[in-house]
Amino acid sequence: MSASTSVASATAEPLSVVDAQRRIAEAVAGQAPKDSEAVGLLAALGRILAEEVRSPHDVPPHDNSAMDGFAFAGQALVSGQTTRLRVVGRALAGHPYTDRVRAGDCVRIMTGAVMPEGTDTVVPFERCDQEDGAVLIAPGAVQPGDNRRRRGEDLALGAAALLAGRRLKPADLGLAASLGLTQLRVRRRLVVALFSSGDELCSPGEPLAPGCLYDSNRFTLAAALTQLGCEVLDLGRVPDDPQALDAVLRQAVDRADAVITSGGVSVGDADHTRVTLARHGDVAFWSLAMRPGRPFAFGRLERPDRAPCWFFALPGNPVAALVSFHVLARGALLTLAGASCDAVPMLAARCAEPIRKRPGRTEFPRVRLSIGADGYAQARPWGGQGSAALSALVGAHGLAVLGPQQGDIDIGEWVDVLPFEGLC
Ligand code: AMP
Ligand code: MG
Repeated sequence: MSASTSVASATAEPLSVVDAQRRIAEAVAGQAPKDSEAVGLLAALGRILAEEVRSPHDVPPHDNSAMDGFAFAGQALVSGQTTRLRVVGRALAGHPYTDRVRAGDCVRIMTGAVMPEGTDTVVPFERCDQEDGAVLIAPGAVQPGDNRRRRGEDLALGAAALLAGRRLKPADLGLAASLGLTQLRVRRRLVVALFSSGDELCSPGEPLAPGCLYDSNRFTLAAALTQLGCEVLDLGRVPDDPQALDAVLRQAVDRADAVITSGGVSVGDADHTRVTLARHGDVAFWSLAMRPGRPFAFGRLERPDRAPCWFFALPGNPVAALVSFHVLARGALLTLAGASCDAVPMLAARCAEPIRKRPGRTEFPRVRLSIGADGYAQARPWGGQGSAALSALVGAHGLAVLGPQQGDIDIGEWVDVLPFEGLC
């Protein structure tokens, strides 16, 4: 990151969310540590696949029946005539019929059973009649080739089954199992150091001193990082003191790939943070055109002979901290963990109540979702919209995303919503 792109003072023209996201994405592109490890399939859930998986054989490994019915050679079907076939045996999944089936004969077959030699078509039980050991197929009931799954139709031998950079989901693990694999090679977890800063913070379990409040951000953010697949290095609380900040940064730089902090970047306290950070690397302090979450700092902390440690300072207000994490840090951490683009699903909902919105900045009101009388999703602003109102975040289903061009939103207008469920 060059100084010209990184440094913007807190008093400069606010930076748009999109520009901030772009600068962060450009800085971290291609910077993921390459280390990987092999883990068992279930341990791979949520991990990032380190290398492409190719199919070591055809899936399915043989032609098989897609239905319960009778397998026969489709060329026996004559247009406009009833076809009569003699039943000569049966094939079950795992118990193939091993003789060749001759023209005019058929085999009773169950779903998944190997298509016997000489057959290419299955007539389902419900589409034929049976009498005296024979099967009668009415004209047009099936076409040659119907109800047969082809060998390799899911995945051919050598085909790319899973691409490197995937965040592994249940179906990925099932697919790996269907290839006979027992392990997958995944990127090592990204180690993210986390600390909260502020003289006023107490830890849960301690008595609350006058004028103090409990440090909630460390728990919110540790949980969000864990859900993202990171290994969290909890460095605790740090007072508003340059020496203490310096000491904790040294630890973070030594032990982590990235560090996330909350608090201490508002105009009031940014100065000492800025001076301390300048000793460790190149960190830009931004005033962002967003609400909640205006102050934000991002940059790289240098370390000799090693890749830099990436630094994200989130605002202290609890809602602003989590919203900034999702909007600004999440994507970059996934990139640093080795994930390829993992677009967050947005949904469109009609606004159920007017929302006051100031043009020129991106606002993320907390909303609840429901289905409106017209059958479409609708979003209703939820709870206090103050940037410290954590309870509103708990009750909400997601964040409406109102871009800089948007002004007040009327009832019935469409808005984009970022559902929390999609953000893990
Ligand atoms: P700051 O960004 O340090 O100016 O903090 C903004 C507000 O967020 C202040 O009211 C702080 O008390 C509060 N705050 C800062 N850090 C935390 C934290 N870790 N947990 C809960 N509230 C916090
Ligand atoms: Mg503070």
